[in-house]
Order: sequence, then structure tokens, then C-alpha cells
Amino acid sequence: MVKDKKKTKTVYNRIVIKLGTSLLTNDTSHLNHDMMAKLVAQIARLHRQGCEIIIVSSGAIASGKDKLGLPKKVNGIPYKQVCSSVGQSRLMNTYEQLFDPYNITIAQGLLTKTNLKDRSGYLNTRNTLLALMELGVISIINENDMVAVDEIKEAKFGDNDNLSAMVANMVDADLLLILTEVDGLFTADPHTNADAKLIPEVEHIDSGIERLAKGTTSKLGMGGMITKIEAARLATDSGVAVIIANGRIPDILPEVISGEKLGTLFKPVTSKLDSRDRWMLSGLSTKGKIIIDDGAAEALKKQKRSLLAAGIKKVDGKFQRGDIINIQNETGATLGAGITNYSAQDINIIKGMQSQKIATMLGCDYGAEVIHRNNLVIL
Ligand code: GLU
Repeated sequence: MVKDKKKTKTVYNRIVIKLGTSLLTNDTSHLNHDMMAKLVAQIARLHRQGCEIIIVSSGAIASGKDKLGLPKKVNGIPYKQVCSSVGQSRLMNTYEQLFDPYNITIAQGLLTKTNLKDRSGYLNTRNTLLALMELGVISIINENDMVAVDEIKEAKFGDNDNLSAMVANMVDADLLLILTEVDGLFTADPHTNADAKLIPEVEHIDSGIERLAKGTTSKLGMGGMITKIEAARLATDSGVAVIIANGRIPDILPEVISGEKLGTLFKPVTSKLDSRDRWMLSGLSTKGKIIIDDGAAEALKKQKRSLLAAGIKKVDGKFQRGDIINIQNETGATLGAGITNYSAQDINIIKGMQSQKIATMLGCDYGAEVIHRNNLVIL
């Protein structure tokens, strides 16, 4: 048992830590034991202080490629699946060995989008993760690459950045910490522009921030900065703070957790939401969207009203009564999500109309509200 007497004051308690391939391999073609040992030592230290931690770890494909002696650039199906299947157990074995001296038990979780799409799958996964956390077990999660192939887009997260945001959303984390091999989000690509400056804090992810993210990619992982920003958006929309920071900085984890200003902090855009609202915002089960006018947006946001047909301008997608849909304004910004009382077909007929005309127009009436306040989450 390794004793660790250092103490850190912690600002965040429940933390999802995403470890990317480039970091875990230290930009080589195999898992880097020293790098992983350093990260595990820091995680163990926070765990001893009572932090609840879940790891989302990449590195399976890289480790499998290495074991099979395949070149770094082999891509496509079935190679990625083959490599991942070989590498996943090696990855877990490495973690097992590294956590063991700290007397920390780990658990493996392999997830696909399909697992979480229906509410019961989402809740079962959530309950398991929470129960493991309560027992002091650190779950180590990866995408189940063997079953979630690129061809089945709706089944695959595609990158562990998005998966980590989904996990943070699911367990209602205080912080999603994305550790990578760059210092955070810069004003330009730091690899090619010497004047690029680190952005310490992002209040709101807008199109300007998305533009900055484009063009900064890493060598081994699937996600570049773009997927990290997508992940940050999903997590901050669910009330989770996100920090993107450089995992190579010594003691980065305790520093960040104690509130040191390192990396880029993305502030949560809402306060904590309840589980059902977070699920609706996760986008896992979203079937379409409706675009509403500014008056309706104001009524939803400020007066906390239900959404009526009168404020709806456009419908997008094929959805049925009872499905989850996104709500956007006319400039394309997402305002929230909710469970619709009317199908896309029906909303196309009643959009822009007063509610009392619904029965005459449709020959049936499910109420004045297209989305009732109780089934609505507004950002
Ligand atoms: N699931 C992949 C792996 O373990 C990584 C995906 C990613 O890098 O985002 O190798």
C-alpha cells in the first residue's frame, strides 16, 4: 500500500477525468507506463481525500496496434475493432497494476450510444456508476469499439471526448476534466502560431469559440479540439464545469481540483439539473427539432411558460408524439429540449396558429401545449 500524506483542498468533488491516447502513449505507439503511473498517483491522492472519480480512458486501439505489431496508421474496419479488442484488456491490466498499490479497486465500463438511448439503459448505467462510486471503486470507461463501428453512426460516440461528456452528464459530475497534451484552448493553433495565447476561461461556447477549435488535432486520438469543444458544450449545458488542461504538467490533477487556474475553464451555463432534464439535453434520444420565434423564446425563458403552436416557425425531422425534440431560435442557437405532445406532421399543420384552432385543424386535440412546461428543459 502506497502512503500519500499530501493534502489538497478541493473545489470539485465528483470528477470525470478523460485521458486521451496521445497523453497515455506520450505520443509514442504504445502505452507509456511512466506517464500512466504519474496520472494514477495523482488520481489516487484525490481518491484518498474523498473525491468521487470516474475515468474515461482511450488507449485501447493504440495498445492493440502495438501488441499486434501493426503500423500506427492502420485504420478502418475491422482493424480498429480488432486492435481495440486486443488493447482493451491490456489497458485495463495496466490500470489494475497501477491502482493496486494504492489499494484502489477499479471497474471496467464499455459503453455505446445504443446502450444509453433508451431511458432504462441510461438509468441502469447511471445507477451502476453511482453504486460503484459509493463503494469507492473507480470506474474506467471506454467506448465499446467492438460493437460500435463507424458505419453505425447513431450507435457510436465516435470519440471519447463526447463519451466523457455523456458520462459527466449521467452522473451529475461537478467537473469534467479533459486531460490532453496541449495546455487548453488557444486564440490560434499553438503548433503553428507562436503568438497563440491560452484562453483561461470561456463563459459561453459560441461560434467564435467553435472556429478557434477547428484545425487543432492530435496525432493518435480520434478527437481534436473540435470534439473537446462539442463535449464541453454538452457538459456545460448539463450544469457541469469543464476544464481542458495539459496532463503532462506535474501534479496537474490536484492543482486543478484545488481551483488553480490552469488550462481552459468552461463555465456551466445552467445550475445543476435533475436527471431527466440532463437526459433530455444529452441529445441521445432527440428525434428532431422545432424553430421558434423570439416572442415564444422569451415566454419560455423568462416567464417559464409552455410552448404553444403560435410561436413555432419551422419543424425539422420525423418525430412522433412523446418523442424528445430540440428547441432552437431562428439563428440556430439551442434553447432547450422537451417531450412533444404532437408529431412533426401535426406541428407542420398547426404551427403559427392559435391553440383553439388545433382540434379543427387536426381532428383531434392533445391540449394547447405543444410542449408542456413540465416536460421542458430550457437552458
Ligand atoms: N476508444 C478508443 C480507444 O480506446 C479511443 C477513442 C478516442 O481517442 O477518442 O483507443
